[in-house]
Amino acid sequence: MIWLGSFWSRPPGKPPIVSIAKWNPAWFSGPSILQLAPQSSTGSGIPHAKDRRDWIESYKDILSEPGRIREARRQLDAMLSKYGDVLLACWCKKGRTRQDGSYSGSFCHRLLAGRLLSRLGYTVEVIDLECSRCSGPVSFDGGVSGAEFVCRSCFGQ
Ligand SMILES: [Zn+2]
Ligand SMILES: [Zn+2]
Repeated sequence: MIWLGSFWSRPPGKPPIVSIAKWNPAWFSGPSILQLAPQSSTGSGIPHAKDRRDWIESYKDILSEPGRIREARRQLDAMLSKYGDVLLACWCKKGRTRQDGSYSGSFCHRLLAGRLLSRLGYTVEVIDLECSRCSGPVSFDGGVSGAEFVCRSCFGQ
């Protein structure tokens, strides 16, 4: 299965960390799946999003680049068959998320990537992030409400 966590999260079984971030911590020397990072195939990031909704749309555009998800799945499937479980990681964790005012502490591109992967049939579990309304655990049967990723019970309220 796929865990979605941070570089500092270690779920049960301590699966290998695979980065889906644009940059990695200096100590990290493991593999990356850059196709799931918030950067385009030309290497540019998401520079001037007006707000989080705008950022979400830009990231969705990036994910829909031709061949991108196919290549991400190819790499992911190879890692899953080698290791069983993997931890897809970025920098965000509770208390350590983007604090520039445009993103709350509970938004992360992992949630969009994870929802996509779960729709593609992968078993995906999120750790280290919480519902932006109730601070409960986030799951993919919740959804994006406005520009917030919320849990199932807050979704649709
Ligand atoms: Zn993140
Ligand atoms: Zn909630």
